Amino acid sequence: MSVCLFCKIANGEIPVDVVLETDTALAFRDIDPQAPTHVLVIPREHFANAKSLAQGNPALAGQVLALATEVATSEGLENGYRIVTNTGSDGGQSVDHMHLHVLGGRPLTWPPG
Ligand code: AMP
Repeated sequence: MSVCLFCKIANGEIPVDVVLETDTALAFRDIDPQAPTHVLVIPREHFANAKSLAQGNPALAGQVLALATEVATSEGLENGYRIVTNTGSDGGQSVDHMHLHVLGGRPLTWPPG
């Protein structure tokens, strides 16, 4: 039994609105969307953040990024989109299981707050 929220989601212990999935990664809708499309993409295996994933399994990091771009296509974000990974407290990370946010469906401001 996992204590990590996103491990529980990857294991099917907590239901989510799945958008796309592979053997190694899962894409599901954010429970508190910040844009018309707001999808999270996670590796099924636990890595705390982008650095630990990139160092521990760079091939998996590429698979997670590839699934995020497939989400953008399947969500019809042909006008553009943003892929973000918050890291650590200053980065605004609240769940310590690496995830990409795929945001789109409206013009997004830059820089973020
Ligand atoms: P971050 O703050 O970058 O770590 O992002 C964590 C994201 O997880 C936030 O956007 C939350 O809204 C989202 N979140 C938390 N719990 C759930 C859940 N059960 N299902 C879907 N998204 C969630």
